[in-house]
Amino acid sequence: MSKNEKRAILYPGSFDPLTLGHLDLIRRAAKMFDKVYVGVLVNPHKKSLFSVEERVIMIRRITEDIPQVEVVDFDGLLIDFCHKTGIHFILRGLRDAGDFEAEIKVAQGLKVLDPEVETVFLGTDTRYSYLSSSMVREVAAGGGDVSAFLPEGEAPLVAAKYKAL
Ligand code: ADP
Repeated sequence: MSKNEKRAILYPGSFDPLTLGHLDLIRRAAKMFDKVYVGVLVNPHKKSLFSVEERVIMIRRITEDIPQVEVVDFDGLLIDFCHKTGIHFILRGLRDAGDFEAEIKVAQGLKVLDPEVETVFLGTDTRYSYLSSSMVREVAAGGGDVSAFLPEGEAPLVAAKYKAL
């Protein structure tokens, strides 16, 4: 790595919506890397609550106090996006053994596709080890209060989505 080259990491995910668990990971990664790209995955086969455009806007607002963060959307293969952007590090979070089992296989597969790409795992903060976007969606769909799971100001947006459905 040359002296001027920035150490960048990509945090890919659905973030539908981004939770306090995701935000904790982003903040911690920002202490280790010069640049943290939060990559919102465009998945035409998966029905989402928020559109990709909405998620990008929401995550930009949530992370506006973290200068290292840049929010992007991407589609297609993760490895292709890494090649296109020159990013060598991928960030994934581990909450439990289930996450480990799924994530280690993806990381190993990526290594076969490109040995230069490293997946960096961060263990969840114990405060958020139970937390997932799908749980937030489930509680909100039932009319429950999701403010304890989300960054400040985000819960009304989720509630409004379900009211509009
Ligand atoms: P995906 O659909 O790609 O799994 P998610 O938005 O659900 O996208 O999660 C993105 C990443 O964040 C995954 O690596 C997941 O394990 C991690 N993650 C999700 N929730 C938490 C949490 N509460 N604490 C730590 N990591 C988390």
